[in-house]
Amino acid sequence: MGSVVISIDAELAWGFHDLPDPPEPRIRRARSAWVETVDLFDEYLIPATWAVVGHLLLEECNGEHADHPAATSGWFDADPGGDGTENDLWFGTNLVDAIREADADHEVGSHSFSHVIFDRDRITPEIAAAEFRRSAAVARERDLSVSSFVFPRNIVGFRELLPKYGFEAYRGRAPPRWYDDSKLYPLAKFVSYTVGTEGPPLVKPEIDEHGLVNIPASLDLYSFEGPARTAARPFGEDPIVRQAKMGIDAAAESPGVFHIWLHPNNLVDQADVDRLRRVLSYVAERRDEGRLSVETMADVAERTLAKHRDLHA
Ligand SMILES: [Zn+2]
Ligand SMILES: [Zn+2]
Repeated sequence: MGSVVISIDAELAWGFHDLPDPPEPRIRRARSAWVETVDLFDEYLIPATWAVVGHLLLEECNGEHADHPAATSGWFDADPGGDGTENDLWFGTNLVDAIREADADHEVGSHSFSHVIFDRDRITPEIAAAEFRRSAAVARERDLSVSSFVFPRNIVGFRELLPKYGFEAYRGRAPPRWYDDSKLYPLAKFVSYTVGTEGPPLVKPEIDEHGLVNIPASLDLYSFEGPARTAARPFGEDPIVRQAKMGIDAAAESPGVFHIWLHPNNLVDQADVDRLRRVLSYVAERRDEGRLSVETMADVAERTLAKHRDLHA
């Protein structure tokens, strides 16, 4: 019997502040979709790992963050400062409270402090360390201890610094799929998702050279959008729901983790909400049949580290 893990990248405006052309519909929906996501997970009593951008845990700020090593490069230029009443896309203490007060037993993890990209060509080790340290510190101030980390845009870097700030696990990149290298990538992916018989991969949590548990992603729940999604309509079931069900069934049949991830702001219209609902109801159905378990990233990290300790005791 395997398990399903769902991680949620929660960031409001921070997810896009470095982009020249941020996706307005997603930003407009960011807060309401967050609340709707909490409610949906409650409906099926499914716990998730919410990787929250640390800045959202602040009550207020001056918009400058002069003591942050990224400030001199203009990284915080878009930060309007103030508080959650004035600028509610940059602060989210009430939204984090909604996660904590939910019926489902969610984990709160970290998605960095200000959504920097952990790429050695773009940031220094000082900036990386500041992001890890601050995201852990603001969580601590709100009586949260964060141990799971999700790298912005899934750019995994500076892992060696994570243990120092109390992190035990991170979401690694999804294993490659056959169509990634295809010259006909969009078409090959389209065929795979609509009529293919190969589901997304189950992943195996592994302890890396720094003692961290890597829990790679299996499926981005909103990775099949735009024209491809429209073109797939005649094929019947939403191709992502079809892929997700294959992964969930695989987790019911063999050991391994099926790791789904999403952003609340992916839920822009009703079809997006329906997709998440179908996937959650399918997970709940299999779980209630006793065929799989639902775990958070922290659950996976704990059992992986415990097993490792037993083997080496
Ligand atoms: Zn700020
Ligand atoms: Zn993000």
